Amino acid sequence: MKELEAKISQAGSLEELEKVRIELFGKRGVLALEFAKLKDIPNSEKKSFAEGLNRKKGELQRLYEKALARLKEKRIEDILKSEILDVSLYGNLDRKGALHPVMETMDRIIEYFIAMNFSVEDGPKIEDDFHNFEALNLPKNHPARDMQDTFFCRDGKLLRTHTSPVQIRTMLEQKPPIRIIAPGAVFRKDYDLTHTPMFHQVEGLVVQDKGEVSFANLKYILSDFLQYMFGDVEVRFRPSFFPFTEPSAEVDISCIFCRGDGCRVCSHTGWLEVLGCGIVDPNVFKAVGYKDVSGYAFGLGVERFAMLLHRIPDLRMLFEGDLRLLEQFR
Ligand SMILES: [Zn+2]
Repeated sequence: MKELEAKISQAGSLEELEKVRIELFGKRGVLALEFAKLKDIPNSEKKSFAEGLNRKKGELQRLYEKALARLKEKRIEDILKSEILDVSLYGNLDRKGALHPVMETMDRIIEYFIAMNFSVEDGPKIEDDFHNFEALNLPKNHPARDMQDTFFCRDGKLLRTHTSPVQIRTMLEQKPPIRIIAPGAVFRKDYDLTHTPMFHQVEGLVVQDKGEVSFANLKYILSDFLQYMFGDVEVRFRPSFFPFTEPSAEVDISCIFCRGDGCRVCSHTGWLEVLGCGIVDPNVFKAVGYKDVSGYAFGLGVERFAMLLHRIPDLRMLFEGDLRLLEQFR
């Protein structure tokens, strides 16, 4: 018995104590064996033997409870010690995402035009011939349709080749004055260093019913916009052709890499082409039923801007999802 008492007090863990408990209080434990002796004890001594044994059992139980409480507390302390949380340590640092360079560039472009009082319009990516071509002064068999390699759907619909159909949809739904930009994805069958089958454009359209919109208005806003995007650059307008504008112009900025001296990026011309624009062709207004209005329109490729701003040499890199490229834009 004395030996067991010592074992209870000296148990170093809950597991050890449990072994002692079974040894003592178990069905075939020390106490059970002692009680079993009762039947061989003369009747006259039975009462005092049983009393003594019960007293002993009570003492042992109290001893056991005490040890149990002590060891449980110790277990908690051990856990707290071993699982200590050092809040000053760096944890798994959040891997923060970032906007894709194309989206980031798009946002900057949108930001500028919103500040200039333009509103943002959206349209479907699957278009019909009328909105994508016909209403934009590109009737069937018009040679300029070949400028855009179109993805056709089986039902005669098509993936929009430019954001210009949004102009048509907006004019059909709203009355002038109109002052919108239409950012979004467009699709053409093309794949090389400077072309991908899906890319993004931002289209702009201003229509006024009072007071004529002039090329000077267009020139002013685009020059200001390009300086907002590229900093202190020279801007020049070159006559060009688009079916939906007349007159039309292509817009260049002085090369941001060589400052106009000539380099590989600008093909040694000192200029980078960045925009197309013009005065809206009367045929476009006719297609949407507008009378006595004037307007200008412009369009740009967002990827082209992103490539120039971030000096990305190959357009396809923007869509390969290579983290080594994307992580540079965090
Ligand atoms: Zn250059």
